Amino acid sequence: MIQAVKGMNDVRPGAAEAFLDSAVWDYVTSRAAEVLNGYAYRQVRLPLLEETALFARGIGEDTDIVSKEMYSLTDRGDRSLTLRPEGTAGAVRAYVEHALGKTDAVQRWWYLGPMFRAEAPQKGRYRQFYQVGAELFGVAAPQADAEMLVMLNALCRHLEVTDVSVRVNCLGDAESRERYRAVLQEYLRGRASELCETCQRRFATNPLRVLDCKRATCRAVVTAAPDILASLSEASRVHFDLVQQLATAAGVSFVRDPHLVRGLDYYTGTIFELATAALGAQDAIVGGGRYDDLVAELGGPPTPAVGFAAGIERLALLVAKRVEHKDLAWWSGPHLYLAPMAGAEARAMALADEVRRLGPWRVEVDVSGGRVKNQMRRADKVGALAAIVLGEDELAKGAAMLKNLRSLAKGDDSQVQIALKGGELVAALAQLARER
Ligand code: AMP
Repeated sequence: MIQAVKGMNDVRPGAAEAFLDSAVWDYVTSRAAEVLNGYAYRQVRLPLLEETALFARGIGEDTDIVSKEMYSLTDRGDRSLTLRPEGTAGAVRAYVEHALGKTDAVQRWWYLGPMFRAEAPQKGRYRQFYQVGAELFGVAAPQADAEMLVMLNALCRHLEVTDVSVRVNCLGDAESRERYRAVLQEYLRGRASELCETCQRRFATNPLRVLDCKRATCRAVVTAAPDILASLSEASRVHFDLVQQLATAAGVSFVRDPHLVRGLDYYTGTIFELATAALGAQDAIVGGGRYDDLVAELGGPPTPAVGFAAGIERLALLVAKRVEHKDLAWWSGPHLYLAPMAGAEARAMALADEVRRLGPWRVEVDVSGGRVKNQMRRADKVGALAAIVLGEDELAKGAAMLKNLRSLAKGDDSQVQIALKGGELVAALAQLARER
């Protein structure tokens, strides 16, 4: 038997692990789309494969992603291509390629799709995982950074994801970062012997990466590291103050983490991370920030930008925790199940279509041609809200019994007679949907 590649999941109806149930994914992705569309972001669908150089230049050679996690391949034309490990580099590539700076530099984009990183798989960390993300190009003002934080706050609220902690920091402009690099290097040099091997090597080339090291020994060194605030230029400090003021005024709770850095090199000013204690080791659900230099670095005109990416699996894990597994079928199961006896099949199909035309009702017609008892067993199994058996009598009368399967499941045999008309059926279904 051929199995899925390690670290890659099958999201499917009725998955044994609730967070891989497609009903939960529909919920998470459609709610995310509602929020992003509500902020007037427009969806882009970009290639999964890009030239390897895009990520090497965009994300940084020295990052974990580029140095050891990329799925790269050589195609038939001897080009080195890579399955995208994140969404921003590709978005910037597209922005530059289509010269959007010339038509309308301000672009609000969102995307949803798979990303690929060869990390060690564990709960909440996969090799193919999905991100929903947003990019706002062309605005340098702190309002743009604040909009990201406010939008993420709305996303969590809309998904009913609670217990989220928001950490923010500021990496400042190039001048500020240069100053901080020197200050940090000086500090790390004094404690170099306590750092892990990797950090001993990289504190000279990329000292900010040390702040991101997960090893306990390095973390201990980092705790006492100098705060970047003292190194920020006046302009960066004013910008960051305004971001915080605007986010606070909009009701976003956050803390400033003086040692927050991100695992990608393109970030410049404000950066942020959302995490939750409910997830255990892989607790980060969103990461993002400003990347004012990336558009120019990838060949475009100087264009400020800010963005974020949220992990769908982790959001789905949080949502799945809230829902009883059995209830999941009820989320996604049909509202109405039609079980036709011999001779009533055509009428059942027509009636189903009548109901579907009246709104977003999910109607399943049993097409097995089997016995009513088996048809009803399936109605229950797929989590239908209500079912109707259609036989000769029902067709003759133009009326049938609408069985409330939810109450039946609780041992309460409730059914009502109903006319076989779309309008009446929909009214009854709406009533049942409210009750569940
Ligand atoms: P990053 O692109 O590394 O800033 O990650 C942004 C978000 O994507 C994280 O906060 C996670 O929610 C999610 N994420 C990153 N890597 C993985 C992974 N390997 N598996 C699942 N989710 C991930």
